[in-house]
Amino acid sequence: MDADVVVIGTGPGGESLANKAAQAGLKVVAIEKHLVGGECPYYGCIPSKMMLRAADALAEAHRAGQLAGDVTITPSWAPVAKRIAEEATDHWNDEAAVRRLQDSGATVLRGTGRLDGSRHVVVTPSDGSAEIEIDARIGVVLNPGTRPAAPPIAGLEGTPYWTNREALQTTEVPAELIVIGGGPIGCELTQVFARFGSRVTLVQHGPRLLPGDEPDASALLEKVLVEEGVRVLTGAEPAEVQYAEGRFTLRLGDGQRLEADRLLVAAGRIPNLDSLGLESVGLDPRRIEVDERMRAGGADSGLWIIGDVTGHGAFTHVSMYQSDIALRDVQGTDGAPAYYHAVPHTTFTDPEVGGVGLTEEAARKQGLNVRVGQADLGASSRGFTHGPGAAGFIKVVEADGVLVGATAVGPAGGEILAALTLAVHARVPVETLRTMIYAYPTFHRTIESALQDLDG
Ligand SMILES: Cc1cc2nc3c(=O)[nH]c(=O)nc-3n(C[C@H](O)[C@H](O)[C@H](O)COP(=O)(O)OP(=O)(O)OC[C@H]3O[C@@H](n4cnc5c(N)ncnc54)[C@H](O)[C@@H]3O)c2cc1C
Repeated sequence: MDADVVVIGTGPGGESLANKAAQAGLKVVAIEKHLVGGECPYYGCIPSKMMLRAADALAEAHRAGQLAGDVTITPSWAPVAKRIAEEATDHWNDEAAVRRLQDSGATVLRGTGRLDGSRHVVVTPSDGSAEIEIDARIGVVLNPGTRPAAPPIAGLEGTPYWTNREALQTTEVPAELIVIGGGPIGCELTQVFARFGSRVTLVQHGPRLLPGDEPDASALLEKVLVEEGVRVLTGAEPAEVQYAEGRFTLRLGDGQRLEADRLLVAAGRIPNLDSLGLESVGLDPRRIEVDERMRAGGADSGLWIIGDVTGHGAFTHVSMYQSDIALRDVQGTDGAPAYYHAVPHTTFTDPEVGGVGLTEEAARKQGLNVRVGQADLGASSRGFTHGPGAAGFIKVVEADGVLVGATAVGPAGGEILAALTLAVHARVPVETLRTMIYAYPTFHRTIESALQDLDG
């Protein structure tokens, strides 16, 4: 076969690029070994946010007792599983996404793709048929994503432990659950299952949850989870896993033994770069470098890499952002290169933890002349009227008169983040932010208080 562009792996960025390139008239071949759309719609963002929405509804029903009278609620997982299967994932079926690509004019090949020299791809079809070779006139875009890491814990391999994939397909809530990993995925799923009645123990290797966020965010989230009945063990070293008669036993380094009927491992992700044939174009899969146009191996290599594997934040919005930049370069059109000084992220726990740019610690490590301001969101007028569930804060990190980072924790923390992301992205002077009018009584008005605190 020949093509203008070959896309290997159709995560959100690869799928979007293949669609747009085909719509623009390029001859596109998209290769996918599992589901077109990648992790986000089937095992990531979308189903997990449906779970969290349901868990939040339960929490709000409990809060109604303090606010609006008696509510009796009997949690049921059935509507959650049904929404995920029917509305989110079409029973983990990507036919609609494949059709969209084909309607755009792209050819979709189901199989595993790999590079075999410059602008040359070999596909091993999923149906066992003969390998297909494709020459790409313009080049190849890689969007292979990541897979869950299996930490080196004795006895873990071979047990029926859950990764995000099994957790997001479950049709029942485990009575007892151990979660290994206190990052965003581990924390979100911990809160979901705990709110649906599971007795959850969250085991975090490091000293705090959400290690990439501000320490105060970690502390508040831990406090909330503990109040909701989660056992949070930080600084814990998983040493050995045993599985027998439907029960997991996890022994920790300090000798503690935890038992549960399910074990969820959410301890990081591994880039799917190992079997892509990168060596055939002189690249080391353990150390790929991608420039500001998403090119790998030099300006004329005909190779672009996008998504989680580039190391600029494992988020759908980064994959999509990079996709448009790569597409412009593939088409040879001009446009802004990639900037990563204002990458936002949200952990959709309750409270939501939103962050953008640098944390205070990261900014200080860069040697910036930093000032920070922080204000209590729960103590704001909106927090006061909101009542239960309003805990949170806004923190701003300033250097040289502009915000270089910010954190918004609280109800709708990820929405409040939009204003802070704009400020960091556009390098709006703090003096300008201080002359802005913030609607009363909103949660985002706490930004004004945090900015005032910069002088404090
Ligand atoms: C539980 C969970 C919750 C998440 N929640 C959020 C969230 O709320 N917000 C957010 O922004 N992000 C979230 N993420 C992260 C998000 O899913 C990813 O950042 C997003 O999917 C982008 O990944 P990607 O583009 O790198 O590729 P992926 O989505 O990982 O897709 C890569 C695709 O490439 C295919 N592939 C790999 N190698 C080959 C090959 N050799 N040949 C053919 N096909 C191949 C794979 O089968 C896969 O379909 C979450 C992730 C998880 C696991």
